Amino acid sequence: MIQNKTVLITGGSRGIGKGIVEYFIQKGAQVGFTYAGSKDLAEQLVAEYSGKGKIIAYQSDASDFSASEQLIEKFIQDFGSIQVVINNAGITKDNLMLRMNETDWDSVINTNLKSVFNITKACIKPMMKAKQGSIINMTSVVGISGNAGQANYAASKAGVIGFTKSIALELGSRNIRCNAIAPGFIATEMTEKLDEKTREVWAEQIPLKRAGKPEDIAKACAFLASDDSSYITGQVLQVDGGMLT
Ligand code: NAP
Repeated sequence: MIQNKTVLITGGSRGIGKGIVEYFIQKGAQVGFTYAGSKDLAEQLVAEYSGKGKIIAYQSDASDFSASEQLIEKFIQDFGSIQVVINNAGITKDNLMLRMNETDWDSVINTNLKSVFNITKACIKPMMKAKQGSIINMTSVVGISGNAGQANYAASKAGVIGFTKSIALELGSRNIRCNAIAPGFIATEMTEKLDEKTREVWAEQIPLKRAGKPEDIAKACAFLASDDSSYITGQVLQVDGGMLT
């Protein structure tokens, strides 16, 4: 059950994050979510769900350390506590290594990996004080397998897995759990960037014969956020239709 839990989701304006926001609100959670630039989309989402539960949008760049500290402070003022954090914000800047430039490397590492450090660093003190917390980090099957043309992205997602396991070891004794979810191929704007042929080939290779939906990821997040998973920490849950076995 995630009813009444206070939940922060980064990157909730679109795609998987939006699916998580919608699912959590429908299940009675109190939700704050962030976005980087999509103010209109964020406001639309708040307008759509504000009658159904507590929902607040925050413009906050997850790769910015002090902005993340301010975000957590504001979230606690608004919600009174922070029980669940879902580090979901992420980007891709794909290129083969020969063509990948320093900016493509830095922006992906900062948005996908440093962001997880920033938000986790800011939320663990209040969670320790409350003697409870669940942190869920979005990695990718690519962080396990690697992928040609995604050295920056795969490195960031592999980093998220190492970070997740370390935090689980450090904070288990404080009743703070930390797990990762590794989505496979989920239909969002991130995967729409791929050409149609590539998308067809990927979907064909998935044993369950379909791309995932944001809701598939949201349901796994709800499990890891809830007390149903109270003896699970330091794990990477693949939600990929069997894509990577
Ligand atoms: P998406 O549709 O491109 O949405 C990305 C979200 O992240 C947006 O809400 C965006 O906000 C936000 N964001 C980007 N940079 C940010 C920053 N610096 N600060 C705060 N928010 C930021 O991506 P998605 O497909 O939903 O992916 C969500 C997560 O799942 C990512 O971590 C991704 O790596 C992971 N993932 C996705 C797939 C897949 O198949 N889609 C597979 C494996 C893993 P704005 O709208 O304001 O830009």
